[in-house]
Amino acid sequence: MRLVLLGPPGAGKGTQSARLVAKYAIPQLSTGDMLRAAVEARTPIGLEAKPIMERGELVPDAVLVGIIGQRVKEKDAANGFILDGFPRTVAQARALDEMLDHEGLKLDAVIELVVDETALLTRMQNRVDETRARGGDIRADDNPEAFKTRLDAYRSLTAPVSDFYAGKGELKQVDGMEPVDAVSAAIEQALSR
Ligand code: AMP
Repeated sequence: MRLVLLGPPGAGKGTQSARLVAKYAIPQLSTGDMLRAAVEARTPIGLEAKPIMERGELVPDAVLVGIIGQRVKEKDAANGFILDGFPRTVAQARALDEMLDHEGLKLDAVIELVVDETALLTRMQNRVDETRARGGDIRADDNPEAFKTRLDAYRSLTAPVSDFYAGKGELKQVDGMEPVDAVSAAIEQALSR
């Protein structure tokens, strides 16, 4: 199963990906997690990405295409994967198509979690409060200013990715405003269509 999960920041992509990982025994490939690990390890990519991520902007396509190009070739992704946070631009989506074509593979589904934007800031704030309560690290881009930039980037650069997949007949939209279990059930239903 090769899946792409689309949706704005705070839509629940991470939560739903984790459930799909358990169900299908395929890895969640979160480009945000990979970049945060690179920042933490101070690799050249991490050093380049850090200030961009802190502002809430997108890291250049070439960097992401390189990261994902390597990652999907790893052994654990041989039977499939869930892409969480990639592709985020139409150029990335085209590069992914090329990568998969080259390997003779294709996506099984592209699921978009559709959410009401006014709820997203509250969800982000809840995530910060929960993380703080359990003593975890707060993401550098989980603050109102960077979050606004992330939403702007989503609207201008990532929303067209949904149109790109819709145009190819691959997009399945799911209501992401429902409770977590109901969203999971809707994803299952979409995957069986
Ligand atoms: P996320 O954890 O998916 O919210 O990603 C956190 C940040 O990492 C984003 O705001 C971007 O700065 C960067 N990032 C993650 N994935 C991508 C991507 N596919 N393209 C560009 N930047 C990305």
